[in-house]
Amino acid sequence: MKLIPGIVPPPGGTEPTWWFIFQENKLLIYQTPESVTLPFLMDLNELGLIVIRQNYLGQFENRHCYAGEVAEGTTPPKGMTFEGLRQVYGRLEEDLFWIATRAVQIVNWDRTHQFCGRCGVPLKMKTTERAKECPQCGLLHFPRLAPAIIVLVERGNELLLARSRHFLPGMYSVLAGFVEPGESLEEAVVREVKEEVGVEVKDIKYFGSQPWPFPHSLMIGFTATYTGGEISLNDEEIEDAGWFTIDNLPRIPGKISIARKLIDGFVGKHGKVSQE
Ligand SMILES: [Zn+2]
Repeated sequence: MKLIPGIVPPPGGTEPTWWFIFQENKLLIYQTPESVTLPFLMDLNELGLIVIRQNYLGQFENRHCYAGEVAEGTTPPKGMTFEGLRQVYGRLEEDLFWIATRAVQIVNWDRTHQFCGRCGVPLKMKTTERAKECPQCGLLHFPRLAPAIIVLVERGNELLLARSRHFLPGMYSVLAGFVEPGESLEEAVVREVKEEVGVEVKDIKYFGSQPWPFPHSLMIGFTATYTGGEISLNDEEIEDAGWFTIDNLPRIPGKISIARKLIDGFVGKHGKVSQE
């Protein structure tokens, strides 16, 4: 992401700024047949929208960026629509897309953290970090972030893929799960694989990470090597799991996901370039 993050908005602007405006989790976009663009405006009033909350995000290519929220039921301006982030991936410029994933999380945090959870008084936004502070008890409230591990398990030239009940028909992916309090990432990998499919792994290696704003995860990717155990489905969420070679892969997640990057990495290592 090429955003230089900031918290305190600049003094009254004389230059156009990018606006990431959300209604719930949907982003306000201009849609043309070829692509999707965002409002880039001298003055937000040009859109004739009432923004109920706004947060400064920082600078992208020397232009200021703001996240804003409009009330439910707000009609989009002419030529514009509100769309889910997954739907705009691949059509909106990639850098702006990833800024939008940050923007939606800040908008959601701002909306759902208006009052102190301890004393119930309205919170004040801090100017030194992305946090809100209770003026009465001093409790700090940071944006929620839920770390989750995602792991590609290898066994020779095979990889382990599983199917959640919530997936699209025929879709399989690598295993993933939330990190529990007090657990290291490596411990989370071992536990999740054991819990979900009953096998053991070793050689856990960091692969990469990706923000996943649905609604506020950070996916931390690993590869691991199978060491033993038969696949057994213990988790109600998982309806099928199995070993696949690159020649018999099922339907897999789209390019937006780190799951796909993990699978593409495995496929690349075993000698084939991924399609789509
Ligand atoms: Zn308080």
